[in-house]
Amino acid sequence: TVSKSFKRRNESALLVLDQVSLHVAPGEFLVLVGASGCGKSTLLRILAGLETYDSGRVILDGQPVHGPGADRAMVFQHYSLYPWLTVKDNIRFSRQLRVVRDQLTSSDVEAASGRSDALLSLMGLSHAADYYPNQLSGGMQQRVAIARALMNRPKLLLMDEPFGALDAQTREVMHDLIRHVHQLEGTTIVFVTHDVEEALYLGDRVVVMAPRPGRIDSVVSVPFGRQREQDLKATVDFLG
Ligand code: ATP
Ligand code: MG
Repeated sequence: TVSKSFKRRNESALLVLDQVSLHVAPGEFLVLVGASGCGKSTLLRILAGLETYDSGRVILDGQPVHGPGADRAMVFQHYSLYPWLTVKDNIRFSRQLRVVRDQLTSSDVEAASGRSDALLSLMGLSHAADYYPNQLSGGMQQRVAIARALMNRPKLLLMDEPFGALDAQTREVMHDLIRHVHQLEGTTIVFVTHDVEEALYLGDRVVVMAPRPGRIDSVVSVPFGRQREQDLKATVDFLG
């Protein structure tokens, strides 16, 4: 449960999240949908520890979390890869680079290489290990970003409209890939999207966030089918 408002110059503070409560079960693939500006990205950034909040708390595995940590990773719409690193180095060293690049031992490097090679193969990127990000298509860049996020085996993977910039065909491929990754790695995922069909295809559970602060309306998922899609569309329309 968290509350968050943004201070605005010469105006009253903007309340974005008013005691929003969200429980995610271990191993769950939870999809969060809601109108633009309702606070989805703000909530994800709070879960990632990238944003402060006014009151409430974030609990992970029974422990309160403060700030970012290796137990959570985030994937953004625009990939955010390091352009000066190869694909392989984006995946294996991104975290260490931020921390202690010069203190890596050869066994650290070896361990990182084993995991990153496995992820490259899982993502179908083995052939592109030595490319730089600007030599890749959007879909490939996002696969690198997902591999990078998985590198340290996070408990929670946060994805903010990760396929929003991709064409329809690439999105379909990515949908099957992320479902496969979820099954294989068992990572708990919170995935934000505008797209109801995408939400239904991916989510074990879909949660609709209302544009008015303080409401988060949960839609319990039923496996596939038109009925479910219409129910969810009706809820999204109703909530604006
Ligand atoms: P979208 O679907 O368009 O990505 P969203 O649901 O992710 O929207 P947020 O980006 O979380 O929405 O923003 C929620 C509200 O908070 C918006 O009104 C936005 O203008 C405001 N906001 C977000 N970040 C800041 C900030 N750093 N400073 C001030 N206001 C902000
Ligand atoms: Mg957003």
